[in-house]
Amino acid sequence: MKYLKFKNPSEQVPVGKLVCVGRNYAAHAKELGNDVPEFPIIFLKTASNIIYSGESVVHPTYSQDLQHEVELVLYIGELVKNANNEQAENAIQGYTVGLDMTLRDLQFEFKKKGEPWTLAKCFDTAAVLSEVVLKKDYQLRGNENISLSVNGIKKQNSSIKNMIFSPGEIVKYISARMTLEKGDLIFTGTPEGVSRVIAGDKIEAEIENIGKISTHVIK
Ligand code: ZN
Repeated sequence: MKYLKFKNPSEQVPVGKLVCVGRNYAAHAKELGNDVPEFPIIFLKTASNIIYSGESVVHPTYSQDLQHEVELVLYIGELVKNANNEQAENAIQGYTVGLDMTLRDLQFEFKKKGEPWTLAKCFDTAAVLSEVVLKKDYQLRGNENISLSVNGIKKQNSSIKNMIFSPGEIVKYISARMTLEKGDLIFTGTPEGVSRVIAGDKIEAEIENIGKISTHVIK
């Protein structure tokens, strides 16, 4: 079982499900040759995929195209189902930085065949997290910088204001389809600039005022 790490720890919270949004930044949808979606595109990762900043991403042997995606991650702090705007906002009780590590070659292959992308998104070390900052300690402005560099070279650099669907809209949409519970995490999509990483690469990611991730890719 995986537990969440908090900046100001008050309790132990086991990680629930990881619900992820695809194509939530128009420029990233475009770079992968996709249309901007009308509704959030939803997929899942699993709690056992999680590692924390400082631990290493293990490159799967069955992929030649492991890519980084830096994302704002929402911490769900209470059970919510069919949320209205206010309930959706209240259910979001913290934020953290996440890397949605993706096997792009497998994903393209699955998409081409019309098969689920599960194995392109779910593998050990596929979700890298920093510590959760509780909302009571930091209120999101909505225009925080989000960035990622590989070996010191900036690859992703945007603002969370460029998200197509806001955190509240995402929680409202998901909660109308599945109950969200305390300990669930929502990956809100990545800005443009995703790129391939290989063993030996150092990935550093940051969301202004939220946190930082530092990790190495290993074989
Ligand atoms: Zn992603």
